Amino acid sequence: MTYYEAVENDMVLLSLQEALAMSRPAKIIINGKHLAHNYALAKQQMSTALSSQTMAVVKADAYGHGAEFCVSALTKAGVDGFAVACVDEALAVRAWAPLAPIMVLEGAFDARDWRLACEHRLQLVVHQPEQLAWLAEQTLPAPVGVWLKINTGMHRLGFSVSDGQRALTQLLSNSSVDVCGVMMHHACADEATPSFSEQQLATFYASQWHDVAGRPLGISTANSAVLLADLDGSHTETNIVNRAGVMLYGSSPFAHKTAGDMNLKPVMSVHSRVIAIQSVPQGGYVGYGCTWQAQRETTLAVVAMGYGDGYPRHAPSGTPVWVAGKVCPLVGRVSMDMLTVDVTDHASVAHGAPVELWGEHVSVDRVAASAGTISYELLCQMTQRPQREYI
Ligand SMILES: *Cc1c(COP(=O)(O)O)cnc(C)c1O
Repeated sequence: MTYYEAVENDMVLLSLQEALAMSRPAKIIINGKHLAHNYALAKQQMSTALSSQTMAVVKADAYGHGAEFCVSALTKAGVDGFAVACVDEALAVRAWAPLAPIMVLEGAFDARDWRLACEHRLQLVVHQPEQLAWLAEQTLPAPVGVWLKINTGMHRLGFSVSDGQRALTQLLSNSSVDVCGVMMHHACADEATPSFSEQQLATFYASQWHDVAGRPLGISTANSAVLLADLDGSHTETNIVNRAGVMLYGSSPFAHKTAGDMNLKPVMSVHSRVIAIQSVPQGGYVGYGCTWQAQRETTLAVVAMGYGDGYPRHAPSGTPVWVAGKVCPLVGRVSMDMLTVDVTDHASVAHGAPVELWGEHVSVDRVAASAGTISYELLCQMTQRPQREYI
């Protein structure tokens, strides 16, 4: 009798908990303690740390970690505030964090976003003239927080310095606006040689960013890489607001420095188990497209994890997979529900052996490097299909 037949016949043999515990072993564990540890580390960066605030960037469902859990864990850790991409994300965060400052990095998509921002006390970035026009159309019941974004060479979002100064004058004279400060974003802060970043900072700081009374405004330039490399530390501004993203999740923004080197701890770990062992004769092929051929008699572990769970399909043969205490190479194509690992040199691997795709034993950065991408993409891509456990 199948489980479903048993249910239909009112013979539930297992409790839901037992059924869950026995189901497909693909699992994502999110570690709130590590998140709090990494946030504390972000707070310690930069020589200006004492006068700075550090917003936790929780866009894209907290880089795939689950924004609700991360927002509450960070709130417990005494977070200064949050940053998200859009007003919709901000409204979700507002429900979990009624009092925290929330910065909206792409600002308003339409006039309505300004009203929502006002009602829910969001801080909207302004990066282009249409957003100012929508704001000018409004009579808002209370001043809305605004960050002015300056393009210093990335050429994605923001006003030029001179247009930015004009926009700033306009914002400072608008009684519906509470100017939080001026911000910019780096294009190359993750690189070992910071020359482009220094050029961007020079462009930014060549201008004075003051209110009408000549008081310095809030300044926000730092993402994880800037914080960790202390790129902006020489500018002894007060009222600095940092925007820490990927480092909070325990991943390194740099190719030349590992997360472990910087004492960051992985927040997401992805687990599964070996569901079959195969012997492949020398010359035998593995998986779709027969892309991998055994050069020797090979013991293969089949793991319940695939691109249907969010594991990258383009991870090539050789990508590290931790199997029961040893890092072994992925071989053949990743399929929707399974992937295959060469465990020939790891004799003790048996059916049911634990597997970690990334986490404590293999960093997500190593997997990303092997798959020709960055951790950000891998983390965001994990689906809701594996069970999730929050600790
Ligand atoms: C996503 C984002 C960040 C965070 O970047 P990390 O590299 O993850 O620290 C900071 N600022 C802006 C504008 C962003 O879009």
